[in-house]
Amino acid sequence: MISDSILQPQAKKRLFIGLLAGSMFAVLALAGLFYYLISHPTTLLQQILLIVLIGAILVTMVAVAFGIGGIVLTIWLAKTITPLQPLMRVAINLLFPVAIALGKIFKIDTDKIKRSFIEVNNQLVRTRELKVKPTELLVLAPHCLQKSSCPHKITTNLNNCKRCGGCPVDKLLAIREKWGVNVGLATGGTLARKYVKEYRPKAVVAIACERDLASGIQDSSPLPVLGVLNERPFGPCFNTQISITRVEAAIRYFIEVEY
Ligand code: SF4
Repeated sequence: MISDSILQPQAKKRLFIGLLAGSMFAVLALAGLFYYLISHPTTLLQQILLIVLIGAILVTMVAVAFGIGGIVLTIWLAKTITPLQPLMRVAINLLFPVAIALGKIFKIDTDKIKRSFIEVNNQLVRTRELKVKPTELLVLAPHCLQKSSCPHKITTNLNNCKRCGGCPVDKLLAIREKWGVNVGLATGGTLARKYVKEYRPKAVVAIACERDLASGIQDSSPLPVLGVLNERPFGPCFNTQISITRVEAAIRYFIEVEY
């Protein structure tokens, strides 16, 4: 199995998992407070509404608790637990914004939390041991890889790149030729979704910053996405770089050996 460090710099998985668990308790505490504040309803209808509301929160949090348990077990056993996968998605999708908010309260860097989330996601994807044909794999990369001074319009057609080697787009095209995978260069979420609709991949290798990877992984769920962080030697969204070793490690994970 590919180690985490090959795909990206190490981020602690326990940070995101801890924040998820903390978020669950925060929601339960808020529900308790809510119950306490309005626990003297005057009409029967208010009583019923209150019971239904608290019941719904409790049921959801039980599902979330199983989801968090599923994430921990999957990572611990390095083995996918199929029946718990929908609950893991529920836990992540419902509590991700709460975990980010909780992190802000404790002054934890948001990018650090998102890196931890990407790490957790990659680990969950890897345990599924999914293999696809090259044509069923989409490599999605951000437009900011293109050299800012390059005059060629490559977002509508990647083949407009003249392969001068001036930026990592050349390397991406080399990867496309070498592996026979689909490659899309996206300026944002809308174009990324268009590529997913067009190529209908069974798996995605996404290259982006923490923010775009975290939102892209959640948007694409349940499509398996391995996230590879880009490198930003000149700051965000400008002449960004990629580690070909990491991108190829992610591709190699998904592609059948015979290819
Ligand atoms: S490799 Fe050269 S031609 Fe292609 S996008 Fe980069 S700078 Fe432009």
